[in-house]
Amino acid sequence: MELKLSRDGLKAIDGHALKNFPRECCGLLLGKFEKNVIEVKEVVEAENVLGSPVAFEADPELVFKAIKRAEKSGLELVGIYHSHPNIAAYVSARDSEMMKLWPGVAWLIVSTAKERVVERKAYMLKDGGIEELEIVAT
Ligand SMILES: [Zn+2]
Repeated sequence: MELKLSRDGLKAIDGHALKNFPRECCGLLLGKFEKNVIEVKEVVEAENVLGSPVAFEADPELVFKAIKRAEKSGLELVGIYHSHPNIAAYVSARDSEMMKLWPGVAWLIVSTAKERVVERKAYMLKDGGIEELEIVAT
């Protein structure tokens, strides 16, 4: 399974992650599910209401509004992104719990150091297991 994003979209996510360092940032990915491809059309920054270096929670009102707006333009919530300051882009215990609330949605994690993005990884909870997605920049 591929997660397709524009280079500008990836840049926006990287910038958001670096701006929030050393706290976690989070946001939404709107787009379309195709066969074996998740195509991201829009990146929506959200505020991490926890303001934490090890956890995130998106402002629920923003999430609600973004999903409503996406539906109007024929898009869906296809993914959620967040950053991992100073740790690798792995699925944490908290992440895997949260993924259960959003099955079938891509989970993009950006690992950041002080002034750079270290790595990006994407996952999805599918049939009870965690599958790694291939990130494709277009
Ligand atoms: Zn995480």
